[in-house]
Amino acid sequence: MSVCEDMLLCNYCKCRVKLSGYAWVTACSHIFCDQHGSGELSRSPAVCPACNSALSGKLDIVCIELSPSEEHKAMVLAGLRPETVLDISSRALSFWTYQVNPPQVGHQHDVLG
Ligand SMILES: [Zn+2]
Ligand SMILES: [Zn+2]
Repeated sequence: MSVCEDMLLCNYCKCRVKLSGYAWVTACSHIFCDQHGSGELSRSPAVCPACNSALSGKLDIVCIELSPSEEHKAMVLAGLRPETVLDISSRALSFWTYQVNPPQVGHQHDVLG
């Protein structure tokens, strides 16, 4: 168990800052601080700085608020079917698990930089 499990780190290799405020999430399950998200991901065509995936879809890059207000939490999933709420929740939990405990099998680190 890592001491950082309550916080995710920017996936930009030279950054690794603890994320707070706003963060940028990619479809390839990477997450970046506001600085690197708005900088690296705003290029055209956008490419994930962590895994070089092309991020061309409208929802391939999403800016999220890490500590949403009570008002936001009250409304964001309201009206959705229970299975949809659970589906979204389980995907978000999978993302968290992947970030906190990345798969090691067959994983090779790219040359940094
Ligand atoms: Zn960063
Ligand atoms: Zn990626």
